[in-house]
Amino acid sequence: MTNASHFKRLALIGFGLIGGSIARAARAQGLVSEIVTTARSEKTRARVAELGIVDRVVETNVEAVADADLVILCIPVGACGPVAQDIAGHLKPGAIISDVGSVKGAVVKDMAPHLPKTVHFVPAHPVAGTEHSGPDSGFPELFIDRWCILTPPEGTDADAVERLRGFWAAMGAKVEVMTPEHHDLVLAITSHLPHLIAYTIVGTADELAQVTSSEVIKFSAGGFRDFTRIAASDPIMWRDVFLANKDAVLEMLGTFNEDLSKLTRAIRRGDGEALFDHFTRTRAIRRGIVSIGQDSAAPDFGRPHPQLKKPD
Ligand code: NAP
Repeated sequence: MTNASHFKRLALIGFGLIGGSIARAARAQGLVSEIVTTARSEKTRARVAELGIVDRVVETNVEAVADADLVILCIPVGACGPVAQDIAGHLKPGAIISDVGSVKGAVVKDMAPHLPKTVHFVPAHPVAGTEHSGPDSGFPELFIDRWCILTPPEGTDADAVERLRGFWAAMGAKVEVMTPEHHDLVLAITSHLPHLIAYTIVGTADELAQVTSSEVIKFSAGGFRDFTRIAASDPIMWRDVFLANKDAVLEMLGTFNEDLSKLTRAIRRGDGEALFDHFTRTRAIRRGIVSIGQDSAAPDFGRPHPQLKKPD
């Protein structure tokens, strides 16, 4: 960590999986002198105070950002615009304002018009998560070896971008800078579409009349189980992602539907060669992901398995 990535006061607006993980990681790495936080509900604020990870829990967004050098919005994408409007007149000149939203174009469009020229706006997206939410779900290791994408609008102060890069790097993340539009296109195929497919499959299985729901659960290890983990992701967060990244998701969905039609045709025609070629290509992609350390090579995603006992 360089001194430049140390902040005196960090304000976190929202304390769920991501806000809670930032607080824990920043504390563990000594990246900030003080953390002030707020959340929308009294219930979450009370729980955050109980956890004792942050220095102060305050009731309003305005109180949270007072005198903060780094402000991070850790709330659903759709809430970023109204919160930016709320805090705009109370930000310390020279402060860095950021977020963690999974969509960047819409966040920039919603937040930027409200922010004063005296602050540095550096939107961010840590590409790391779990299907859990709420103040207890965060953990300090969440960002280790995961990407964090920064999408500063054109003309953003380079020092501010470097300071935020240093902050995320010190929490273990690998940092890349790109435009909000490019981010949204890349994430549409790598994250948003897979979630949509998981939500679809799990919903379809639930509605199948021929297969009773108990059988769906009983035989879920045949692939379905891995979709259910993704489909358990927070409904508010994912509603906002699809509303905010509509264009890129629709574009990727168009391509996906064409490819699905090709596979459907291959199955209908009994074209084993086409199926084999396709599956060989996709297997190579999985091996590429494992080889760059983005997932474990352990069978069955490294799940623990009971051992077969030797007969007495
Ligand atoms: P979370 O665990 O559900 O926490 C969300 C936080 O936002 C809570 O503190 C909640 O307050 C607050 N909040 C909810 N609606 C709000 C509103 N309308 N106005 C103000 N505050 C509101 O969510 P999360 O997983 O940390 O996600 C937060 C952000 O991180 C989202 O933008 C998401 O796109 C992004 N992100 C998520 C993941 C992931 O895998 N989960 C990964 C990368 C990025 P209360 O508790 O008081 O309701």
